[in-house]
Amino acid sequence: MATPFQNVLRSISLRLSLWYALVFSLSTAALFGLAYYLLVQAVGRKDLEVLEAKMQEYAATYAAGGLPALQAVVYREDQQGPQRSLFVRLVNRRNDVTFAKVPEDWLTFSQVDPGWAGQRYSVGSLRIPRDAERDFMLSSQRLADGSLLQIGRSTNSRDAVLHPFRRSFLIVGGAMLLTGLLAGTVFAQRATAPVRQLVATARDIVRTGNLDARVPTRLSHDELDEMVGLFNTMLDRNARLIRGMREALDNVAHDLRTPLTRLRATAESALQGESNCSSQDALAECLEESDRVLSMLKTLMDVTEAETGVLKLDRRNFDLTQLLREVIDLYQCVAEERQITVQFEATAPCQAHVDPLRIRQAFANLLDNALKYTPAGGLVLIQADSTPARSRVRFKDNGIGIPADEQPRIWNRLYRGDKSRTQRGLGLGLSLVKAIVEAHAGSVSVQSLPGHGAEFIVELPPPAARPCDVT
Ligand code: ADP
Repeated sequence: MATPFQNVLRSISLRLSLWYALVFSLSTAALFGLAYYLLVQAVGRKDLEVLEAKMQEYAATYAAGGLPALQAVVYREDQQGPQRSLFVRLVNRRNDVTFAKVPEDWLTFSQVDPGWAGQRYSVGSLRIPRDAERDFMLSSQRLADGSLLQIGRSTNSRDAVLHPFRRSFLIVGGAMLLTGLLAGTVFAQRATAPVRQLVATARDIVRTGNLDARVPTRLSHDELDEMVGLFNTMLDRNARLIRGMREALDNVAHDLRTPLTRLRATAESALQGESNCSSQDALAECLEESDRVLSMLKTLMDVTEAETGVLKLDRRNFDLTQLLREVIDLYQCVAEERQITVQFEATAPCQAHVDPLRIRQAFANLLDNALKYTPAGGLVLIQADSTPARSRVRFKDNGIGIPADEQPRIWNRLYRGDKSRTQRGLGLGLSLVKAIVEAHAGSVSVQSLPGHGAEFIVELPPPAARPCDVT
């Protein structure tokens, strides 16, 4: 079991914000580095330009008036102040220093490296009194009489520009890093909230077995919201499946008891010789009873599958009038036997997007009921029509009808109307019809006046745009 601290370390939001802070600081540092480099270059270029201009001025002064003129200019400037930091040195052909001016804070003249003599500009470091290391920049030029003029300038003035820049970066960068880390943590926490809620819900379901728990949705329509939506849909579907299985199991347990008890009693009395009929008759009765049980189980399974959405439908565009003619043919003998007229009306083919096998089964149940609950001499009228939005089939009879209070219950599994007990039946026909039609995204309804007959209306979706669509 992980400790809370380990959980925090493992949490995606913390890791996300740390990565965010790392990337943020690296890019800020890179940006600052580039800006700093460009600034150093710009300041350096400016220093060189100033030095070069000074060199041209001194060289011209020397060319015009020789060493005295140069000395005069340098001393004058020295007294004026601003150029005090300039180092000036003149070395003759024999390498003797003929003139030098060293700023107060520079090295003593003798320590300046004569190796600079050959270079136009030099940049380097040298030790100065008070043990402080200073950067400097040096410019050299060979004059017309062969002597070498060197002027140097301390680069310490750059620090005046660059130091505040570095300090600002540290302060602003630090503040930005801290803000980024905090903001990153807050945003990452918020963004990953659905994942934590999902984990909490799943844990709750595992712990308590409560299938009604759902993850709250934020309606932000992002990927996490979609994941939460799908997770909830999966939970809904599982809950519906489990509920359907439980109900089916309850119904089976309840309704199998009667036929199985009857079956047992028949077999028992035949065995004990109590029954008047032969054992052959008893066996036939047992067979009939077990067929009834098997048929009930199969229909219950079909209803449960259709209601829970796991029934496989091989849907295609199909003409419903063809299905209806097949069903009417199938029940023709029964209708004749019961002296009932079956009339079929359809003005045109009636296409719908259906699984023909399943819809035939539903139509057969409705016609079977109409024939069962209509007395001899009655009429069953079947009508089919279609619009671009739906296909509709009506099964209308002039039989016993259904009382208003029974109408909502006839769709329930194993429900049988009071007046129907005399007829054969399991009370599963209409629940199967409803389950199959609704699995096709269609609807079925009833209208009835007791004593005047009943009308069942089935509406099914129109043909699919692509005829080969299978769902
Ligand atoms: P079953 O016919 O096996 O009893 P169903 O589920 O098919 O079971 O029908 C449920 C009940 O609905 C029936 O018991 C009956 O009371 C009523 N019913 C169905 N169809 C009709 C009809 N055409 N006319 C009158 N009552 C009907």
